Amino acid sequence: MKTSDVIIVGAGSVGAPTAMALGELGIKTRVIDMHPSPGQGENKHAIGGIRATHSVPAKILTCRRSLQIFASWQNQYGDSIEWLKGGYTFPVYRKTDETILKKLLPIQKKYGLNIDYLGPQEIKALIPGINPRRLRGGTFSPDDGSISPLLAVNAFYRRAVERGVTFHFKERVRKIRLKQNSVIGVETEKSAYSAAIVVDAAGPFSAELSRTAGIDLPVVPDSHEAAVTEPVRPFFQCMVVDVRPGPGSKNFYFYQNLHGQVIFCITPDPPIIGTAKGETSMFLPQVSARIVQLLPRLKNLRVRRTWRGLYPMTPDGEPLVGWNRRIRGLLHATGMCGQGLMLGPGTAEVVGRMIADQSNDDDQMILEAFSPYRKFKGQEALK
Ligand SMILES: Cc1cc2nc3c(=O)[nH]c(=O)nc-3n(C[C@H](O)[C@H](O)[C@H](O)COP(=O)(O)OP(=O)(O)OC[C@H]3O[C@@H](n4cnc5c(N)ncnc54)[C@H](O)[C@@H]3O)c2cc1C
Repeated sequence: MKTSDVIIVGAGSVGAPTAMALGELGIKTRVIDMHPSPGQGENKHAIGGIRATHSVPAKILTCRRSLQIFASWQNQYGDSIEWLKGGYTFPVYRKTDETILKKLLPIQKKYGLNIDYLGPQEIKALIPGINPRRLRGGTFSPDDGSISPLLAVNAFYRRAVERGVTFHFKERVRKIRLKQNSVIGVETEKSAYSAAIVVDAAGPFSAELSRTAGIDLPVVPDSHEAAVTEPVRPFFQCMVVDVRPGPGSKNFYFYQNLHGQVIFCITPDPPIIGTAKGETSMFLPQVSARIVQLLPRLKNLRVRRTWRGLYPMTPDGEPLVGWNRRIRGLLHATGMCGQGLMLGPGTAEVVGRMIADQSNDDDQMILEAFSPYRKFKGQEALK
């Protein structure tokens, strides 16, 4: 039986940086993923947005740490993850949105976020050509940005391997092995592995994985589509988030990446729960009408590709991170919803310190907010 201190199920947005964090702590770690290489689950479906602009302290702190890791990666390790510090803008056209966003500023600033509410002229300068009709201004957080999800997950993977972590690909974990109420390892289609700690970083398949240990986890796969255009000369840098609802959708968001391509996404309303990953014929007409209304000069851009992926969704839009109270040694690091890329590296360090028994005060606060045993009341404002 192959033995390690920790087994991580999943080499995605959370599992790969967690492997790196554990490797750096000198903890003997094995990662198992059913796909052939890192990031082939939902990581590669993300559009690359990285922000600490959230409404709750736990997410702000976690993502501020992720931002530091992404922003300094190339200087520290040499490989490019296409970090672009373009900021996030929430342009505002309705009084209600202005009130909500302005109300969040004190808590965001208290937890160290660099953010302000700007007037319409400044928003027009950030997004040249934005529809000026009834534009009231908006928030801008210049330290947020974007990365390439696949370059980043592979960078974490390589670093984890350098630190002694073992990866097994093309192996599906069939069940978490238990002795009485303690984890003793996992069983895959090919083999069995032993460890006293199993980290559930299985994303939208966490509920399925946890069920093999008799645990019900409130994580459901929630289907979302995205698209990328041909490249054009860069003319805006920030991620633009329009929080207004539209027919069949909630917000939508887009940015121009380092190569000049515009990448965009929309939040369906009602949500599309399930594991369907085939692109639909509804998405492009729906989202392009909204984008062109907001930024008419994008109307002649040609779309190169669309795709569809799954958010690991929780009832309140907050992650699920913490030890399972019934099964000793089972640690959940999942439920990242639409933000697993930006939460991944920060969460990974929190998980590393939990396993090494080195949690600090900020970790305690984060873990309370992300607890799998919280009451799941309400919805996060900037979900
Ligand atoms: C269209 C779209 C756009 C998005 N844009 C953004 C964005 O801009 N910014 C952002 O932060 N987030 C974004 N997200 C969300 C982000 O992609 C997810 O939150 C994130 O990838 C979840 O990370 P994870 O590690 O939990 O899951 P994953 O990255 O999916 O990793 C889980 C891994 O577990 C493996 N696995 C699962 N079950 C098993 C098993 N039984 N055995 C072996 N392996 C298993 C899978 O193969 C997978 O590799 C977007 C998502 C979509 C769909």
